[in-house]
Amino acid sequence: MDYEPVIGLEVHAQLLTRSKLFCSCSTTFGEEPNTQTCPVCTGQPGSLPVVNRKAVEFAIKLGLATHCRITPYSLFARKNYFYPDLPKGYQISMYEYPLAVEGFLEIINRGEKKRINIIRIHMEEDAGKLKHGETPETASFSYVDFNRTGVPLVEIVSGPDIRSPQEAGDYLRVLRAVLQYLEISTGNMEEGNFRCDANISIRPKGQKEFGTRTELKNMNSFRHVEKALEYEIKRQIFVREEGEKVIQETRLWDVDQSITVSMRGKEEAHDYRYFPDPDLVPLKIDEKWVEEIRRGLPELPAEKRARFVTQYQIPEYDAEILTSTKAMANYYEECIRLFPEPKTVSNWMMVELLRELKRDEREIDQCPVTPQHLAEMLKMIKEGTISGKIAKDVFEEMYRTGERPVRIVKEKGWIQILDEAEIGRAIQTIIGSHPKEVDDYRQGKERLFGFFVGEVMKETKGKANPKKVNELLKKKLKGDS
Ligand SMILES: [Zn+2]
Repeated sequence: MDYEPVIGLEVHAQLLTRSKLFCSCSTTFGEEPNTQTCPVCTGQPGSLPVVNRKAVEFAIKLGLATHCRITPYSLFARKNYFYPDLPKGYQISMYEYPLAVEGFLEIINRGEKKRINIIRIHMEEDAGKLKHGETPETASFSYVDFNRTGVPLVEIVSGPDIRSPQEAGDYLRVLRAVLQYLEISTGNMEEGNFRCDANISIRPKGQKEFGTRTELKNMNSFRHVEKALEYEIKRQIFVREEGEKVIQETRLWDVDQSITVSMRGKEEAHDYRYFPDPDLVPLKIDEKWVEEIRRGLPELPAEKRARFVTQYQIPEYDAEILTSTKAMANYYEECIRLFPEPKTVSNWMMVELLRELKRDEREIDQCPVTPQHLAEMLKMIKEGTISGKIAKDVFEEMYRTGERPVRIVKEKGWIQILDEAEIGRAIQTIIGSHPKEVDDYRQGKERLFGFFVGEVMKETKGKANPKKVNELLKKKLKGDS
């Protein structure tokens, strides 16, 4: 039987506010454990939470950027459960009345656009962190760090609209780009400030009803999300084909074994005994404030992509890649400012630059080649100082050393030979050492011309200007020598 997966994603993103969601403790990452805490975020009796206005503003920004409706009335609720990293015994979240609802994001896969619905976006506080002892002396202890407790999060819940692991990855990349463009979250999955849980079920193709779903956790990179989903689809198909039933449960992605393993039976919302937090007033969001925030929104990935296509006349696919992160788009536009040939810049970035970055698993802001250096090199090609062929070597050297191209070319002696006398001497050498080929060419075997060009280029170590080589070679081979 042919099955199709039905996937919905729940993403938690940390907001880049300077203080926590309900107190003034700092959110700086990596400080000494338990130095950024106070009675509020550690749940001491008598302490009272106060909402961080900036965090609400950031969440509204995200709601607007994902085409959601901002609800005029939302409510913080207590989600009750026990865990050592949750000192209050409940997490302040939103339940019946989230901040934003009914939005969508568009993903593009090789030109095909698809809309993924966003059911809701709500705000909540982060929990602390457990650190388990690592040395033989500390192995029997676990430590708890409350610095992260109370850091603001947004949870973005997608509709069950995703139909493949690839689409899940695309959706996450688009969502992360939006967060980064808004400058409200770093979106760094490895550091844990962008986390994703996935709900997944399978059903026979053509069937309307959903199958029983499992929830996947513990996926720390985009690749892991895709791999975990691929595994889980196969597992669920296997279970059904064996005549068994998929059980509703939470499963963990085991990175080392590349499998999902059962963690616990899935709890239902009513298990958490949600109720409105009596210490916090409902959030009434003024429409004027929302409009003010809307007017201040920056250019978002989809808008930038459209602008790149019309303004720079580059293909949609190039524009999609070049706007995939804000840093990439800035890099591109900085290059163009210095070397205003958008298509040339795009080609070099799409081919050479991205290949190197991909190989080293680097992001563009860790690229050793600066926009200034790339633009300088493109100028050198244009002015004829180096050939396009040599430029590839120059580029590799720039990437390897971070040096200026001018310096590399000078040091390596890679300046293009334009001097006709010098090229003429190289041609003479080649003609002199291939009398048979010269004869054949003169008898009419014209396709040998390419062979001569290649030999002359070799003789000049790739530095001769190809146009000049062609011109001079034609003259000499015609037999006027
Ligand atoms: Zn605090």
